[in-house]
Amino acid sequence: MPELPEVETVRRAMERHLIGHRITDVWTSGKRLREPQPRALLRSLVGQRFEEARRRAKYLLLGMDSGRVLLVHLGMTGNLVFRADRQKHDHLIIGLDSLRSPPLVFADARRFGMLLVLNRAELANSPYLRHLGVEPLSRDFDADYLHGCCRGRKRPIKNVLLDGRVVVGIGNIYASEALFGAGIRPTARAGRLSRARLATLTREIKNVLRRAIRRGGTTISDYLGSGEGGRFQQELAVYGRADEHCVVCERPVKSVVLAGRSSFYCPSCQK
Ligand SMILES: [Zn+2]
Repeated sequence: MPELPEVETVRRAMERHLIGHRITDVWTSGKRLREPQPRALLRSLVGQRFEEARRRAKYLLLGMDSGRVLLVHLGMTGNLVFRADRQKHDHLIIGLDSLRSPPLVFADARRFGMLLVLNRAELANSPYLRHLGVEPLSRDFDADYLHGCCRGRKRPIKNVLLDGRVVVGIGNIYASEALFGAGIRPTARAGRLSRARLATLTREIKNVLRRAIRRGGTTISDYLGSGEGGRFQQELAVYGRADEHCVVCERPVKSVVLAGRSSFYCPSCQK
């Protein structure tokens, strides 16, 4: 499943290849994704020019000169790629007035992705964006903020990190890795952690996400045919490594289920 670093990698590619280009034609499969596709609205984008490629949590917001915004969520298996041939799971194909770039294609085998067309003014009130917490890579996400969110809370710190009303897009893999980096057990009660340990944790979260973005994330391989994606998978210290040796102390890594998700930790390095 694409996590924040993968979505950010896609956003950067959209920024490089879309900005300044006009839409020459739009084809949609018409198939239902997480929401029904707004076919007429999608087709009405013909003639508009891409002006910006932003990201909020795991939503991509592709803004046009008309003030319209194409909101894309990749869901479980969605991807945005540039290619000329039509394939089985394609749901949106956007032709561009670019001689170098093939059309932009949204492909999604399992169809949990989402395509919406909104006005810039509608974005802030969109039910998908309205209640989102802070961005983990923004300045707003710091020790004071996280300390405030944890104060008096009995729930495990890992659950706080996965709560999108607190902070968006960290995801299970990166939460596990950041907690390992900070030496904090995923099961530690949030309210018991000192401001100093939470400061370390916010730093680790930013570091692990930045490192993953530099590597193109963990799951998207062969992005734009560059073969650059997915290299972060090989750098995971604890995630998915139950019973293997800890990279620091060589004791076995353990796993525990929290909020329905598997968490991985080293009982010796994480307190
Ligand atoms: Zn260890």
